[in-house]
Amino acid sequence: MRVVLADLRVVGGYGSRLQPFSRVTAVISYLKKQFHDVPSVHMAYMAAILTRGGHEVAWTRDELAEGDVALVLSSLVDYRNETSWADRMRARGVAVGFVGITASKMPDLFAAHCDFILDGEPEAGVMRLAQGETLRGIVRSEQVNDLDSLPFPRWDLINENHRLRQGIKWSSRPLGGGFPLLASRGCPEHCTYCPHRILAGYRTRSIANIGDELERLCDQVRRPYVIFRDPLFSEQRDRCFELCDEIQARDLTLTFEAETRLDRLDVELLDKLYAAGLRAMSFGVESLDPATLRKSGRRPIPQAHQRTIIEHCRKKGIVTAAFYVLGFLQDDWQSIAATIDYATDLGSTFAQFKILTPYPGTPMFKQLEPLLVEHDWEKFDGYTPTFKHPNLSESELRFLLGAAYTRFYMRPSYLANFLKIKNSAVRELVSRLDRRVNARHSMNEIADFSRPVTC
Ligand code: SF4
Repeated sequence: MRVVLADLRVVGGYGSRLQPFSRVTAVISYLKKQFHDVPSVHMAYMAAILTRGGHEVAWTRDELAEGDVALVLSSLVDYRNETSWADRMRARGVAVGFVGITASKMPDLFAAHCDFILDGEPEAGVMRLAQGETLRGIVRSEQVNDLDSLPFPRWDLINENHRLRQGIKWSSRPLGGGFPLLASRGCPEHCTYCPHRILAGYRTRSIANIGDELERLCDQVRRPYVIFRDPLFSEQRDRCFELCDEIQARDLTLTFEAETRLDRLDVELLDKLYAAGLRAMSFGVESLDPATLRKSGRRPIPQAHQRTIIEHCRKKGIVTAAFYVLGFLQDDWQSIAATIDYATDLGSTFAQFKILTPYPGTPMFKQLEPLLVEHDWEKFDGYTPTFKHPNLSESELRFLLGAAYTRFYMRPSYLANFLKIKNSAVRELVSRLDRRVNARHSMNEIADFSRPVTC
C-alpha cells in the first residue's frame, strides 16, 4: 500500500495564524514562517509505523500525490484548504483519513470529506491501518502508553529534510527549523484554556529510549538542532538531569530548545541543561494577575522566580520566549496594560501575545460557548476576538494586541536582549532609552485610539 502523508503547512494542534495588522506584526509573521514552519512529529511517527509495516510512504505539504490512502493532519485555521485537498484526492480514488486534535474534537467539519477520522493520538490507528485493516467512519485511536514501543520518527522520509538547518548567530533555531522530538506527551497541569492536555494523558519515554533517538539523529545529521515538543519538558526534574547525563555520556553534539513552566526550572537545572545543549526555552507567563490565572486553572508563579530564571538565561546566553494571553474574562484595559508593561520589564528575548481563544474540547470552551460571536472556525487563530468580552470591545482587544507587539519589539532593550548584550553600562543606557521610547509609544497610542478603529 502507498500512503500519502499530508502536512498542509499549519504548525501544531488547532493551528495559529497571525494575519499581520501592523508593520511590527508583519515582520513577526514573516519571521514565524521562516523559523517556526517545522513539520509535524506525528507525521514522522506515522511514516515510521507504515514503513515498518512494509508500506510505501509519500509526504506532501501541498501537492496532490498518487497513493491508496492519504492521511491528512487537521487544523482549525486551515480546515477549508484541508477538506478541499481531501476532496480532490478522493476524486482520484484515494481513501482519505483525517488525524489530529481538530478532527478528533470537531469531526463534523471533516466527516463529509473523508473516509475515516482517527479520534485521539494517531499512532494506534495508523498501526491498524498498517496491519491491513480498512478504516471507516470515526475510529477511536487509543493513546499508546508504552511510548518506547513506538519506532523513531522517520525524518528521512520528509522531503524537506535537506532544508538548511544551520544555526545563525542571532538565533538559536536554524532557518528551516530543526528536528521535533517528543520526550513526553500530554501535560499534568489543568489550565482550562489549553488544548495540549485534552487529547491524551501525560506519559514519558525512558531516558535510554530518548538517548537512542538522539544518537540516531546525530549519526544522520551533524550537530542537529532538536526541538523538544513536550508541552511541559521539565515536569520531572530528576529525569531532566538523567537526560543531560545521557547526552553527555553518549558524547552527543547537539543543541536543543524546549518548552516548560518557569517553576519547573531552577538555576542548577538550567546550568545542567545548558551544558547538555539547551539554547532556547519557551514558557507561558500568560497574565500578570495571579487571581486571573487561578480562575483559569493555572497555578501562578512568583514574579521573583520568573525574573531569576530569565536573568540567569540571559547570563548564559539562553534565548527565552514568553507567552502571554490577553482577554481573560477578568481582564480589563488596565490589567492588560499592566501585563504588557510586565512583559517588557521581564525582558525575555521574545514574547508572543495572543487573544484568549476558547478551543473546542477545552473546559474554557464550555464556559465561553454562550458568549461566542465568531462562527467562522478559521478565525479561531489565536489573534482574533471570538467571544463577547464583558469588559473590552473587539476593537479594544485588537488595539491592545497591536500595542503589546509594538511596545515589546519596538524598544531598545529588545534589541539588546536579541543581540545578547551583557555589558552593564550599555544595558543601563538602553533602559534609559526604553523610558523615552515608551513615552513616545504612549503618545502614538493615544493618537491612534482616538481615531476610529475598524475591525
Ligand atoms: S502548563 Fe502549559 S501545556 Fe500544561 S496545561 Fe498549562 S498551558 Fe497547557
